[in-house]
Amino acid sequence: MFRPGWVQTEVARGEPCVLRMSAMSSQPNSREPAAAAHNTSDLYAPTNDHPAGHRGVQKYIHVVGSSVFIDTVIADDSWDRHVVGIVQEEAWWAVDVPPDAEDPSYGAALDLYSYHGRSSPGEWLAAGRAVQLVEWARTHRFCGRCATPTEPSPGERGMKCPACGLIAYPRVAPAMITLVTRGEPGPDQEALLARGTNFPIPMYSCLAGFVEPGEDLEGAVVREVAEEVGLVVGNVRYLQSQPWPFPHSLMIGFHADYLSGDLVLQEDEIVDANWYRKDDLPPIPPAISVARQLIDAWVNDPG
Ligand SMILES: [Zn+2]
Repeated sequence: MFRPGWVQTEVARGEPCVLRMSAMSSQPNSREPAAAAHNTSDLYAPTNDHPAGHRGVQKYIHVVGSSVFIDTVIADDSWDRHVVGIVQEEAWWAVDVPPDAEDPSYGAALDLYSYHGRSSPGEWLAAGRAVQLVEWARTHRFCGRCATPTEPSPGERGMKCPACGLIAYPRVAPAMITLVTRGEPGPDQEALLARGTNFPIPMYSCLAGFVEPGEDLEGAVVREVAEEVGLVVGNVRYLQSQPWPFPHSLMIGFHADYLSGDLVLQEDEIVDANWYRKDDLPPIPPAISVARQLIDAWVNDPG
């Protein structure tokens, strides 16, 4: 089974294109805040710290569809809520706003693309966690094995079937994303950047794709590059990761070296792919994406 995921904007299947476009930038060297420049252990208290006993600030992340409206009071105490955690010493709750309820934000709720840049990087990550938890609960109301209605599993974050015992935990889908370079480090080194068939604007990014069952991350990098542009790469090294809540990915960023082959594009996925020097980059993705962070790290590496 092949699930295409050329760049993060494509991994974000189901999001309206207009929102993706609003988050994009054609300025290769603009300095926007990074989405995940820190380790998340600095953000969340250990998960055995439960917000119920927290005496400080309480925040309710009302999830309206897949948008968020944050308030210090819950709009309706009867709505389902989920523990997000102690987030930077505040108690955060995810509140599932029923689809037939009156919108507690009166239209002010923001999708996560729009919320990025209007929040701190940590708030954005925690809001993404809230949306993912609510969406997981919405889509695991029945057992996948025997269709019995599920119940929260005591003492853990799981939805359990009372009939057969199957427990469903929140899903995280790992997806690799890689910058491929050729040549020695320095001003003449080139990076491979490509434009996917469904990019709404002519933007060039790193290669990306979901990890398949039975595959390690390095293998996924080598396979995806071979499938999508026909090149052989090696020396795959990990750089950084980023939660990507569209709807529940974890982007794992790598740098790989070109070894051999000529560009042969997978036409149903790729419109164009080229090698670019640091001083001659095409339009690239915005700072919200780990793709941009991988490209920036390469550009700023004096090599
Ligand atoms: Zn069951």
